[in-house]
Amino acid sequence: MSQTDITIFEKLESEVRSYIRSFPTVFTKAKGYKMWDEKGTEYIDFFSGAGALNYGHNDPMMKAKLVDYILSDGITHSLDMATAPKAEFLTTFNEVILKPRNLDYKIMFPGPTGTNTVESALKLARKVTGRTDIISFTNGFHGMTIGALSVTGNAFKRKGAGIPLQNVVTMPYDSFVNDNLDTLEYLERFLEDGGSGVDIPAAMILETVQGEGGINAASFEWLQRVEQICKRWGILLIVDDVQAGVGRTGTFFSFEKAGIKPDIVCMSKSIGGYGLPLAITLIRPDLDIWEPGEHNGTFRGNNHAFVTATAALSYWEDPSFEKNIEEKSEKIFNFLEGIVAKYPELQGEAKGRGYMVGIETKIDGLASSVAAEAFERGLIMETSGPKDEVFKLFPPLIIDDEGLDKGLKIIEDSVKAVLGAKELVIS
Ligand SMILES: *Cc1c(COP(=O)(O)O)cnc(C)c1O
Repeated sequence: MSQTDITIFEKLESEVRSYIRSFPTVFTKAKGYKMWDEKGTEYIDFFSGAGALNYGHNDPMMKAKLVDYILSDGITHSLDMATAPKAEFLTTFNEVILKPRNLDYKIMFPGPTGTNTVESALKLARKVTGRTDIISFTNGFHGMTIGALSVTGNAFKRKGAGIPLQNVVTMPYDSFVNDNLDTLEYLERFLEDGGSGVDIPAAMILETVQGEGGINAASFEWLQRVEQICKRWGILLIVDDVQAGVGRTGTFFSFEKAGIKPDIVCMSKSIGGYGLPLAITLIRPDLDIWEPGEHNGTFRGNNHAFVTATAALSYWEDPSFEKNIEEKSEKIFNFLEGIVAKYPELQGEAKGRGYMVGIETKIDGLASSVAAEAFERGLIMETSGPKDEVFKLFPPLIIDDEGLDKGLKIIEDSVKAVLGAKELVIS
C-alpha cells in the first residue's frame, strides 16, 4: 500500500485542525479498542473518539445490521419523516433505557451534534419559562455554537465567538474554589437576595463529570442539592450528558446514582453507537411545548445512526454489562491512585468516575508530555482541563483485561520516562 503524504493536511486543511497534531499519523483501520496506521503500527485506544466510541470501533453486531440495511436500499436521509429505523429506536430506547429507570421523557431529534442538542435545550428552557438567563458552571463545556459557547467556561473557546456571550451567569462548580467552600450555599445566596444582581434563570446546565474542563466529578450530594435548588426556585435542570452519558461513568445516564431526574437531558457522541452522528434531547413531557418545526435541522433523521443506535442498546439489556464497567472502573482508579502514590514528583491527583478518569498534575506541560510519550509507545490518550493539566483515560467500555492492562502499563512507562527525562534536565 502506498503511503499518504501527511503534509497534505498542512497544505490543504485549515489551521483549525487539532487532534491530528497530537496524533500525527495516518490511520487506516480500527477494531474494538485497537487502531492501526499506514505503517502497520498498532495503537490501543484510550480516547474513544472523545466519548463517541464507547462501544469501541466497528462493533461486529452493529456493523452487520448497518450493512444489511444499506444493501437492502433502506432509507438513508429522510429529514424527520417517519421511517422504520426511527420507530425502532424510539421504541427500544423507551423500553430498554427509560422505563426500567422510571424515567418519562419525550425524545427530540435536533441536528446530529452535541452542540445542537444543547442549543435546543437552552431555547426550550427560555421558551417554557419566559426567562432569558441561564446559570452555567465554571469549566463546563457544551459545544461551539454561540448558545453552547455562552455556557462554556474556557476563555480560548469563548473568545472564538467574536461577539459578547450574553444572558448567562457562571457559578462555581463543586470544589471549584477549594474543598471547604460550599459552592451551592454561595449560589443560593444569589438567588434569594434581591440585591445580588442575578435574576432567577430559566435553567441551570451542567455536566455531572466535566469532560473537557478537567475531569471534575461533582459529588452525588452536590447534584442532589442542585436539583433541590432548581425545584425550589422553579428553575429547569439541564444535564448535558453528551460526553458523560451512554455508560461512560458506569451507568447509562451519568446522573442515575445521584438519584436525580433532570428536566432536560442532552445526549450525542455515543448515542449512535457506531460513531455515526446522532443527537437526542430528552424533555420532561409537560415541557414539550415546541411548535412543529420551531427547532429544525436537515440531518435529524440519520437512519444509519438509528440502526446502530438501536443495536447498541442491546448491550444494556444484559445487567452484566454495567457490572463489568463498575468492576473495571475500580481497577482503573486503583491504578491511578497507585501511580500518584508511587511517583510523588508527578504532584498528581486521580480524578473522575467510571471510565471517565485521569490524573491532574501541578507541573505545567507534564500531562501533555505523558500523552505524547504514550502515543510514541502505542497508546492514544488526550489531555483535558483549562491548562491541559490532566491526562485523560477514556478506554472503550468493551475493552478486555488484556487491553486494559497493556494500556495502563504504557501509561506507567510513559510517566516514568517523562519524569526520568525531566530529572536529567534539572540536574
Ligand atoms: C463534545 C461535547 C459537546 C459538543 O458536542 P459536538 O458534537 O462536538 O457539538 C457538548 N457537551 C459536552 C459535554 C461535550 O463533551
